[in-house]
Amino acid sequence: MNKGSVELVGVVKRYGDNLAVSEINLAIAGGSYCCLLGPSGCGKSTTLRMIAGHEAVSEGDILLNNRNVTDLPPRKRGTAMMFQNYALFPHLSSLDNVAFSLKIAGVDKARRRARALEMLQLVNMESYADAFPEQLSGGQQQRVALARALINQPEVILLDEPLSALDPFLRTRMRAELKRIQQQLGITFIHVTHSQEEAFALADSVVVMNNGSIEQIDNPQGIFRTPRTAFVAGFIGGHNILEGRLTADGLQISDDRTLTLPASPHAPANIEQVQVSLRCDHIRVSPSPFDAAQPLPLQVESVEYQGSYVHVRTRAEDGLQLSIHQPDTEYLQAPLHPGDQAYVGWRPDDLNPLQQPGPRV
Ligand code: ADP
Repeated sequence: MNKGSVELVGVVKRYGDNLAVSEINLAIAGGSYCCLLGPSGCGKSTTLRMIAGHEAVSEGDILLNNRNVTDLPPRKRGTAMMFQNYALFPHLSSLDNVAFSLKIAGVDKARRRARALEMLQLVNMESYADAFPEQLSGGQQQRVALARALINQPEVILLDEPLSALDPFLRTRMRAELKRIQQQLGITFIHVTHSQEEAFALADSVVVMNNGSIEQIDNPQGIFRTPRTAFVAGFIGGHNILEGRLTADGLQISDDRTLTLPASPHAPANIEQVQVSLRCDHIRVSPSPFDAAQPLPLQVESVEYQGSYVHVRTRAEDGLQLSIHQPDTEYLQAPLHPGDQAYVGWRPDDLNPLQQPGPRV
C-alpha cells in the first residue's frame, strides 16, 4: 500500500451498553479519497475519531502505514483532523491560526510564517492572511481550517462533515477544491458525510455504513450500479426494491407477475424470498404496451418534472410499485399524467439481486 494507508482490524466501539461501531474491517489505500457515508448515528464520526486518536477503541487495531497506532495519541499518528465547526482561534489572524502548531513546536517566526503562507496559497486564501475569522465567510474559514490541518504535512487528513455548514453553491465549489487539494498533495483524505452526492463526487472508495457496521465498500460506480443490500439501494436513492419468491421461472412478485432474473454470478442461490434492486432510470415507461414480459398496465400516481428527467410514480393492481426516471425528451413526446395507464419494461440484466445485510461474502 502507498504512504498514508489506513487499516481498521476488528474495530469495535462501545459507549456503555451502546454499540456505536460493531467490529469493522476496513483498508483504505494510501493517497486515496475515502468517504464514510451513512445516515446520522450510524457510527461514521466515531470511526473517524478513532482513526484520529480522539476516541479510544474498545476492541481491535488501527494501523497507519502498517504501523499499529491504536494506543498512540493524535499528534503521534501522522493524521490531522478538520472539524465541522472549523474551531479557528478568534483572536488570531488566518496566518497565525495556520502557523499555530508550528509556533507551539518552536519553529522560528520567519519559517513558520513562510510555511503558513504556502498553505494559505494552496487553499487560495493568501490575500486573507491578515484577516481574523470573524471577517471571513464560512467557506473562507473552512479553507483556513484546512490549511491549518495541512501544515504539519500529515499523511492522512480526517474531515468530519466539512461541507455541511456551507450553502449549496459554496458546497459544490469547496467540494471541487477538496478534490483538487487531495490530488495535488497525494495524501489520504477520509471524509465523513451523509450526502451520497458528495461521496460520489469525491471518493475513490465509498464506505456505506449502517447501524455501526459496513454495508458495502466500493467505488461510486460500483455502489450505484450494484448496491449490495436493500439498505444501500434505499440510502443512495434512484433505485426500486422489489421482493418475491424464487421459482424456476424467476422472481415471482405476485400471482400474475414473475420477473426474469439475470443469469449473473451474483444471482442468489438457495434462498426462497429474494430482493432485487432496479434503477429508476433503467425502466422504460410508455402509454401503450411494448414489452411482452410486462403486459400488465400500471396506474400513474404522480408525475414530477425534475429537469433532465421526469419522476413518474406508478402502481399496479397486483401491488407492484415503481418509481421511474423518464428522460424529459421522451416525456415531452408523450406526456403521462396522474391517473393514466402506463406500461413498463426493462432488461432482465438490470435486476440486481440483493443480499441480506451482514458480513461480506
Ligand atoms: P454519525 O457520525 O454516523 O452520525 P456517531 O459516530 O456520531 O454517528 O454516533 C454513533 C452512535 O454512537 C450513536 O448512537 C451515538 O449516539 C453514539 N455516540 C457517539 N458519541 C457518543 C458519546 N460520546 N457518548 C455516548 N454515545 C455516543
